[in-house]
Amino acid sequence: MTGQANILVVEDERPISDLIKMNLEDEGYRCTCVYDGAAAADLLEEHTYDLVLLDIMLPFIDGYELLDYIKPLHIPVIFLTAKAALNDRVKGLNLGAEDYIVKPFEISELLARVNVVLRRFHKNEQILAFHDLVIDLDRQTVTQNDRLVDLTPKEFDLLVFLVRNKDMVLTRDTIYENVWETEYDGNTRTLELHIQRLRKKAGLEKHLKTLYKSGYRLDSKA
Ligand code: CA
Repeated sequence: MTGQANILVVEDERPISDLIKMNLEDEGYRCTCVYDGAAAADLLEEHTYDLVLLDIMLPFIDGYELLDYIKPLHIPVIFLTAKAALNDRVKGLNLGAEDYIVKPFEISELLARVNVVLRRFHKNEQILAFHDLVIDLDRQTVTQNDRLVDLTPKEFDLLVFLVRNKDMVLTRDTIYENVWETEYDGNTRTLELHIQRLRKKAGLEKHLKTLYKSGYRLDSKA
């Protein structure tokens, strides 16, 4: 569940949304769909995404308003805009979207634009590094000074999530929901066990901090 970019699709027309999701997942991307701007804002508050595909005409909060909200998060945005709304395109780019796609669009065009934007933002990289750890997302391996670190798949996913969100306070809920991909049930033992084992195996005793009551933080400057 790691390695590929995590994309949020905000589009209230379900057939379009479903089509996008299906094709992105075929390409190996992780894809979450929401159908209105308020729900999108909620998700953006709790999860990390590499890219947002954003429809302009949305219930509750429109795409422009949501773009203002997304910009400080440094997540690139591609607008999905109706064919008739020519002015929307210009407005969208002026407001800071990376690109726009006019509906209806060819799936090949969508994928090409997604790839370009992800590359531009280095979101497609297959190697992550944290201090002396080198994480190869393709091969699902971690090495430390050229020595292989033996991690379980969940420990690996946990490490990738922590490194991608280093120096941020991560609540147990957030970690659990992103790494285990199920709702957090309040049982801290599984997560704590994985954190402890990861600390030990990857030599992160100094860096991987437990924060009283709030969760964890992987400190790059520790
Ligand atoms: Ca719409």
